[in-house]
Amino acid sequence: MRYSAFRILKEALSGHKGWTPAWRDPEPQASYDYVIVGGGGHGLATAHYLSKVFGKARIAVLEKGWIGGGNVGRNTTIVRSNYLLPGNEAFYELSMKLWEGLEQDLNYNAMVSQRGIMNLIHTDGQRDAYRRRGNSMILHGSDAELLTAKQVRKEAPFLNFDNARFPIKGALVHRRGGTVRHDAVAWGYARSADQHGVDIIQNCEVTGFRIENGAIKGVETSRGFIGATKVGVSVAGSSGKVMSYADMRLPIESHVLQAFVSEGLKPIIPGVITFGAGHFYVSQSDKGGLVFGGDIDGYNSYAQRGNLPVVEDVCEGGMALMPMIGRARLLRMWGGIMDMSMDGSPIIDKTSVDGLYFNGGWCYGGFKATPASGYVFAHLLAKDVPHETAAAMRFDRFEKGLVIDEKGVGAQPNLH
Ligand SMILES: Cc1cc2nc3c(=O)[nH]c(=O)nc-3n(C[C@H](O)[C@H](O)[C@H](O)COP(=O)(O)OP(=O)(O)OC[C@H]3O[C@@H](n4cnc5c(N)ncnc54)[C@H](O)[C@@H]3O)c2cc1C
Repeated sequence: MRYSAFRILKEALSGHKGWTPAWRDPEPQASYDYVIVGGGGHGLATAHYLSKVFGKARIAVLEKGWIGGGNVGRNTTIVRSNYLLPGNEAFYELSMKLWEGLEQDLNYNAMVSQRGIMNLIHTDGQRDAYRRRGNSMILHGSDAELLTAKQVRKEAPFLNFDNARFPIKGALVHRRGGTVRHDAVAWGYARSADQHGVDIIQNCEVTGFRIENGAIKGVETSRGFIGATKVGVSVAGSSGKVMSYADMRLPIESHVLQAFVSEGLKPIIPGVITFGAGHFYVSQSDKGGLVFGGDIDGYNSYAQRGNLPVVEDVCEGGMALMPMIGRARLLRMWGGIMDMSMDGSPIIDKTSVDGLYFNGGWCYGGFKATPASGYVFAHLLAKDVPHETAAAMRFDRFEKGLVIDEKGVGAQPNLH
């Protein structure tokens, strides 16, 4: 069923009895050409592009819980392509272009809202660093503008400009960045993949790999063995656990990241704003809630909830930046499991097992990558060679010293 204004009108006049489920609930088949492990944003996007762009095949997505229950439905919805390094920026710009055409591609309202991102500058050194980053963005076909403090004041007058410790001296603005309704992304990709023949199998946990003579034969699951010619693992925070079934240790640690939503307020924040002196980012949802977050909890965990010291730290960041936030009541908070790689950049690569592929290490920036991650992973699975924008996201970059250390602070995950 295609969604359209005409369809809404027709259903409105006929008691909404004609809507069909957005995707089927199939039984697993004995075998597939491709099995994607993990029905998060990245796994579903991979299935969508694999089935739509890279030719006809028998494809299944196996999800241990329900679609949208992982990080794809838990993030703060920020999308952007404002990276610095060559190994990253072209990839995130591909993602941004895919976001821009996503709703037409999926025939689904994902509420893509390019309301702009403002990274605040608090020191002269930071202005130099952002100028360099902005130039790199422009060279890769993205957009960047450097604003003075006066220009920032015009766009966001409620900020604390004269804070003695963290005065605001300007901002790097990326107008095409913004927000996208996170779970609509999962649902839209799931619906489209299903329409292209992909079996989306929920409540099906992968518990092991069947590997014979160094080649993948299929996956053991809570619903029995499923054969596969190729298996793509895309399980975000569970990366280390799932790859241990193939006896692989990854340069990835799992950590909790929390998100917060305030009570609904009148429109105040025009886009996304990030604090350049502490770790705090904020936007306002269409329902009026301030959606914000900060740092990871700082200890390894598979829990999807965090602890109070980070709540205090994030709220302090918010208060330093916009003191009026102290008048708003916190409505909800939750956590998700981050797959923190050792240089802050992802891995999209083949493994040492024939037919087993891995996609992970997204840290807390993988939502914006969803379309490109799905596209390039589908490319790798179908063609066995990396997509040009993801060629640097290899496993062996750590042993070869080719890390993509985006923050330039050394390969220290504790500093993320
Ligand atoms: C609080 C928070 C805020 C964030 N904010 C942003 C942001 O503003 N911008 C941004 O770009 N990124 C953000 N992120 C990061 C982003 O959400 C993740 O990097 C990204 O969603 C990870 O990819 P995914 O969607 O595929 O993950 P998930 O949705 O977690 O998908 C992985 C799936 O694998 C499944 N799975 C695990 N083990 C198995 C198994 N054995 N068998 C079968 N299935 C399995 C899980 O159930 C899960 O559904 C944030 C994350 C959090 C938690």
